[in-house]
Amino acid sequence: PENGGCGSTDTGVKVIVRMRPLSSNEEGETIVQKTSSDSLSMLGHQFTFDHVADVKSSQIDIFQIVGAPLVENCLAGFNSSIFAYGQTGSGKTYTIWGPANTLLEETSSSKEQGLTPRVFARLFSRINEEQNIHADKQLMYQCRCSFLEIYNEQITDLLNPSQRNLHLREDSKTGVYVENLTEETICCMKDVTQLLKSFWYFLTNMQGLSNRRTGSTSLNSESSRSHSVFTCVVESSCKSVDGLRCFKTSRMNLVDLAGSERQKLTGAAGERLKEAGNINRSLSQLGNLINILAEVSQTGKQRHIPYRDSKLTFLLQESLGGNAKLAMICAISPAQSCKNETFSTLRFAQRAK
Ligand code: ADP
Ligand code: MG
Repeated sequence: PENGGCGSTDTGVKVIVRMRPLSSNEEGETIVQKTSSDSLSMLGHQFTFDHVADVKSSQIDIFQIVGAPLVENCLAGFNSSIFAYGQTGSGKTYTIWGPANTLLEETSSSKEQGLTPRVFARLFSRINEEQNIHADKQLMYQCRCSFLEIYNEQITDLLNPSQRNLHLREDSKTGVYVENLTEETICCMKDVTQLLKSFWYFLTNMQGLSNRRTGSTSLNSESSRSHSVFTCVVESSCKSVDGLRCFKTSRMNLVDLAGSERQKLTGAAGERLKEAGNINRSLSQLGNLINILAEVSQTGKQRHIPYRDSKLTFLLQESLGGNAKLAMICAISPAQSCKNETFSTLRFAQRAK
């Protein structure tokens, strides 16, 4: 990788590493040190990314670095996504959603609120602004949300969890879509909070069954093995100079990936074995694909891009290639006990540049 590629945020993938604090049951020294705003060192190895966030970085800082640009890119008409990658317990859900209780707040009063509610608060305030500025052109926005989970290569509608095993379809007009997936129109922050509430109840229900080893407020053993994708389709229409209406559509995706820890194939059998293989495969396929995209954007060379190799990349096809904007937040723990996984996450992050 080129010396971190810092500053080159408009091509390729923006890679942010976020290190969470040591948790109360992790002892000893931290083995990762932030060395500048975009570099860190781990046991003698130096790494450079677009940005490094350590324990001093707040949820607001993370919003400024990736959340606000996500909204601007989306309003500018680009498909834009944020992915959270990292081992289970590293802070992915904390980053994307924040603690479950903060999702119930209608206003952003909690410092711990995660990216998703902040992104929507910003989206609506920017939409209002834009609509006012361009009132003469009758600029109007419409937003629709969906939320799904990919677990063991099967898609479940998280806004209506009785809808399992949904199919991915492709259509020359609409592109790739999930058949029968619930889409909710949202017009204001209150609608979003309402929507997140149903997600919250889903999460807390699941928590009853969860193993709480990691002390997570919003983690359960199944969700650590599934990818969750929250999508908002933003459509705008306005009157052009010749009086015709013009339309623009873009998507925003917030993706909480399955834990990146290598799923053990030894000892697993049957369904569990198949599942472990699927998780390893879909994450490594995402990694490969991002490497290829980074290479294509650096060299300009044409290459076959293997979107169809997993449900996740097939689903997000239009949000990965072309002019799409991606930010990858690689979450790590600074604990000695996470050494191997942290190293492997940093290598993944480095390769994505
Ligand atoms: P993951 O989704 O990657 O499995 P979580 O987001 O559930 O991990 O985080 C694991 C635990 O660490 C949770 O208790 C969470 O509140 C805490 N945590 C994660 N990141 C931070 C952070 N930056 N600051 C404070 N606590 C954090
Ligand atoms: Mg999680």
